[in-house]
This record gives sequence, structure tokens and C-alpha cells, in this order.
Amino acid sequence: MVVYKFGGASVNSAAAVRNMAEIIRRCDSHSLMVVVSAMGKTTNALEALLPTSCNDSQRKERLQALHDYHYTIARQLTEGLDDKPLMTDLDRLFAQLDEATAAPATAYNIDYDRIVSFGELISTTIISHYLRLRGMENKWLDVRQLIRTDSNHREGHVDWVETIAATESLRREPAPLAITQGFIAGANDGTTTTLGREGSDYSAAILSYCLNAESMTIWKDVPGFLNADPKYFSDTIKIDRIPYNEAIELAYYGASVIHPKTVKPLKNKNIPLYIKSFITPDDSGSAVGPYNGISPETPLYIVRPEQVLISIAPKDFSFIAEQNLQMLFGLFAEIGVRINVMQNSALSFSVCIDHNAVLLDQLLRRLQDDYYVRYNAGLHLITIRYYTQAIIDHIVSGRPILLEQRSRQTEQIVVEAK
Ligand code: ASP
Ligand code: MG
Repeated sequence: MVVYKFGGASVNSAAAVRNMAEIIRRCDSHSLMVVVSAMGKTTNALEALLPTSCNDSQRKERLQALHDYHYTIARQLTEGLDDKPLMTDLDRLFAQLDEATAAPATAYNIDYDRIVSFGELISTTIISHYLRLRGMENKWLDVRQLIRTDSNHREGHVDWVETIAATESLRREPAPLAITQGFIAGANDGTTTTLGREGSDYSAAILSYCLNAESMTIWKDVPGFLNADPKYFSDTIKIDRIPYNEAIELAYYGASVIHPKTVKPLKNKNIPLYIKSFITPDDSGSAVGPYNGISPETPLYIVRPEQVLISIAPKDFSFIAEQNLQMLFGLFAEIGVRINVMQNSALSFSVCIDHNAVLLDQLLRRLQDDYYVRYNAGLHLITIRYYTQAIIDHIVSGRPILLEQRSRQTEQIVVEAK
């Protein structure tokens, strides 16, 4: 069996869904599991329906827009066909969504998961019916019965024992074609959970692991894994082969092509991951697998925008030693600030973090009594794997370097955004 994952951009219109169906039709495996995200920017639109984001008249208006968006796609896909079963399911889902948003009953995070999960439930419902109407019989699976997590809403931790047990029958008897949701999962207390924003890749990897898939393919709007983000670099090169560990490192440094948690379950079972373009599906794309090095060999660039560099020095001029560091790391973990790169000297400790005004303010307030704190915003953290000095000079292009860290293969620099 093989697993395909389609993200929001690959199902954001009727034309996109038709294109997806064609890719599914051409799959030659005896068994295919398709994991799908919400259509287009639906998850953002659902976040805007949360009780904390709108009043009731805004809620109705936004719900109507979401309704119209999906029904338009559904109607375009079923033109001339019997759309009754699909419309019945859609009406039921939108009635449930109306109810869930009108009467939020519980804590914010529980409501969040309950409400945003409709994006994937709706997209897979439309797609499953459409495929059936096109002669592609398929099984719609509620992934909340398959991927099981704890009750840590908005960022559920997978309960692997439960998930392996829940996928047992599917593992023994895989459906020729199954359609299911990315991003969402189920907890033992019966509530819906989610795996964190952009979590659908991870869903596909969990299912690939549990179902012993031969391979997993992520269909994207880029030709594969590029050596740099085209947003910042004009001459990008597609990487044909990437070792698992390299992919994990790149995700850690901030490469956005693959969700950081995705690679590990695949690596554990040696399942190859293909990244291919849904626009040019015949092209080879990129493969992540048990390779020795990247191919072709080329420098890789990862830009983390909107960084803040904070420099922290004890007011009593005590050295930055273990006790200070223990306290500082504890504080960062408590507030939930991820350190992207750090450096310490005798008298100060510098960290680069993503700019989040609320968290930054909390951090500064907690530090102000015992530490002098200075910070610089509007920065880029640029990571270069397989650097040369000429490449670094070119990237820096005369800007002052605010922090630099170099290992054998990786150079990280913090500079002002151009
Ligand atoms: N629909 C979810 C999101 O937009 C999950 C995903 O697309 O991966 O975050
Ligand atoms: Mg997405």
C-alpha cells in the first residue's frame, strides 16, 4: 500500500480536485490511502469563527462565506451527476459546524479542535463523493478513530500503542482506495484533537508507519525539495535525493517543505518519502530516504524571517554560568519560546527567537529585575549547509553580522533583513 498526502493548495478549487482525482487514478498500487487537508485557507477561516475571534453577526457572515466556498466547489464537481448523497452529508456537517460555533461549550483549546476539524471533515466528504461519482469507489475513513492522541488539545501527542491497535484491521485488510483527513485525531475522552498547524504531513507519516506503507508521497505546488526558498533566492536547485537525517536537520533549521515531525516515523521503518508536484506529476520530484548524502551536492539555504536577537546579562555581573543558564532555559520553556540559535560569553547570553510580541513582552518582564536585556528586531536567521566563505560573503553582502555560528557543515548568521 502507498500513502498520498494532498495539502490545502492542491484541493482549493473544483479544477484542483479534478487534477487530484487524475493523480489518484494513475496510481498503480493495489491499495492507496489518501490523506487530505482542508481546502485552501479553510483552517484560517475556521479559526476566525472561534468565539474569541468574532461576535455573532460576524460568525454568521463568515460561516456563510465558508458555506458558499465549499458548496460552489461541490456543485461544480457534481454537475450533471446525482449530488443528493453529497449534499445531504454537507448539510449535516454545516449544521454541526453552526451548532459548534454558536454554542461553544468548553475550554478554548477543546473548542478550537472541535471547530477547526470541520475543514478536513468537509474536504474529504466532498472528495470522497466526487471520486465515487467518477467511478472511483473508495472508503471514507474518520481518522479520529485511527490516529489516537492524548488530550493535549491543539498539539496532541500520538498514543502509538492505541494508534497501532486502532489501525490493525486496516493493516491486515487495506482498502483498495481510502480517503481520510490530515491534521485531526481523536482522544480517549471522545474529543477531537489536532496535531498542530500544518500537521497533515505528520498524519500521513503516522498512517504510513502504522500501515507499513511502501512509500509516502506529498503532492505540492513546488517541483520537489528545493535548496532554497524561492521567496528569498532566485536561482533554486531541486534536490533529487535527501537522507532522512538531513531532512530532519533542515526541518529543524526552519525549512518549511516538510513538517519537522514527519520524517521520524518514516525513518524508523525505512519508508521512502517522495515530494512531487501536483502541477507536473510526471516529474521525478524529490526523495527522502536512506541515502548517504544529498544529491546533487549543493549548498542549502534556510531563511528564518522576523527574528529577534536578545542579549541577556546578569545585573550583578556574575558570570553566565550553569545556574543562570538553568534559570534562563527554564523560563524560555515555561513561556513556550523556542530558541532558534544561541551563544554565550562570560557576561552575556544571546538568543535568537521568532518575533511574537506577546511572548517577547512576557519574557522581558520576567527578566527585567535580575538582568540587563537588549534586543534587536527585524532580523533574518540564515542557515547555510555546505557553505564556503565565498557563499557566506555573497549572502551577507556587506551587512553587519550580529551573531555567527559555524560548525563543519553548517553556518548560521543573524543579519538585518535586506
Ligand atoms: N489544514 C491544516 C492547516 O492548515 C493542516 C494542514 O494543512 O496540514 O494547518
Ligand atoms: Mg497546508
